[in-house]
Amino acid sequence: MTKDYDELNPSPRLLMGPGPSNVHPRVYRAMATPLVGHLDPEFLVIMDETMELLREVFGTQNRLTIPVSATGSAGMEAALVNILEPGDQAVVCVKGVFGERMSDIVQRCGAELFRVEGEWGRIIEPEQVEAVLKRTRKPKVVAIVHAETSTGVLQPLEEIGRLAREYEALYLVDTVTSIAGAPINVDAVGIDVCYAGTQKCLSCPPGLAPITFSDRAVQVIQNRKTKVQSWYLDMTMISRYWGSERVYHHTAPVSMIYGLREALRIVHEEGLEARFRRHRYHAAALAAGLEALGVSLAAQEGYRAPMLTLARIPEGVEDRAIRSRLLNEFQLEIGSGLGVFAGKMWRIGLMGESCRRSSVLICLDALEACLRDAGHAVAPGAGVAAAEAFYAKTRPEEMPIA
Ligand SMILES: *Cc1c(COP(=O)(O)O)cnc(C)c1O
Repeated sequence: MTKDYDELNPSPRLLMGPGPSNVHPRVYRAMATPLVGHLDPEFLVIMDETMELLREVFGTQNRLTIPVSATGSAGMEAALVNILEPGDQAVVCVKGVFGERMSDIVQRCGAELFRVEGEWGRIIEPEQVEAVLKRTRKPKVVAIVHAETSTGVLQPLEEIGRLAREYEALYLVDTVTSIAGAPINVDAVGIDVCYAGTQKCLSCPPGLAPITFSDRAVQVIQNRKTKVQSWYLDMTMISRYWGSERVYHHTAPVSMIYGLREALRIVHEEGLEARFRRHRYHAAALAAGLEALGVSLAAQEGYRAPMLTLARIPEGVEDRAIRSRLLNEFQLEIGSGLGVFAGKMWRIGLMGESCRRSSVLICLDALEACLRDAGHAVAPGAGVAAAEAFYAKTRPEEMPIA
């Protein structure tokens, strides 16, 4: 007997984890648009518009601003392998899982790694970076994560960028989680290499990694003595496809680019500032609700990432059982803790399309039910009431953008 396979029919989830977030129907429709060839003159226009829209969300005029054909981690890898050659010195700020991942890639590049050790749940202070920079000879790069998705911390970028310039190093920033959810301002901050992902605040399915290189970074790549270690991620070749030459390198993932262009068009229509305020607004309502449920937040006060809230799991409450109940009974996905926070924290995302009042209220209501059944005493409706009280007295326009 041959096996039958059912038609694909996954449950309609509310995605409030660390990504992917929910996707707008317009993006799904764009992705179902019939293909053209990846060198079709009509596709070239679509590529140009995608690059234009990407420059807008990054806050840059950089010519080399493109989507890498793979997820955010490929953006990280592309950023580092193009800049680093064996023997180079690289300073990496580590305050969570994604800083660790950068360190791993730096070592795979054969570069000499200088780690700035940060505490999980806190930002890295410029003095910590300077202390490490002083031990280097000729640092090629200073790398840091903007919104660290394992800790829910939003790292200030300006001061550390100034230090990178002072030491004549390139400044490399991971904005996978922050892009389109918090200001990046690549040019104003002086970031040289900045990569992102599509499935977090851009609300596009996973599969592309927007990346941008300053002219300074492009020069460093052009002056390499050795070939880029990765063939697939070699910007010297990829930029010939996205640039004026349009030379084949690998077949562009046409449907993903359709989807990204539509997601970026939605961001453009909403406006970046309104979008940043919206993320701050609903994050504040969620925080008020969690507090009323007796759930404390883990990230350093004043530096909480609006798109991702780290909530401490109350004493005696079992992580896995609650998350699977949220999923099965409420169709609600939240994230588990990563690394040292595994089993201790939940990661609640309010990203892009998922970042709305209904998500906040559903999440607080569902969590309350689960917590009460787990023996955690909560006044009925306390979480939702606190969030509603916040909404009643605050308008999104009153929120700061950063
Ligand atoms: C999600 C994430 C990544 C990795 O992106 P993938 O799409 O999972 O490969 C890298 N850095 C940060 C900060 C992230 O949140």
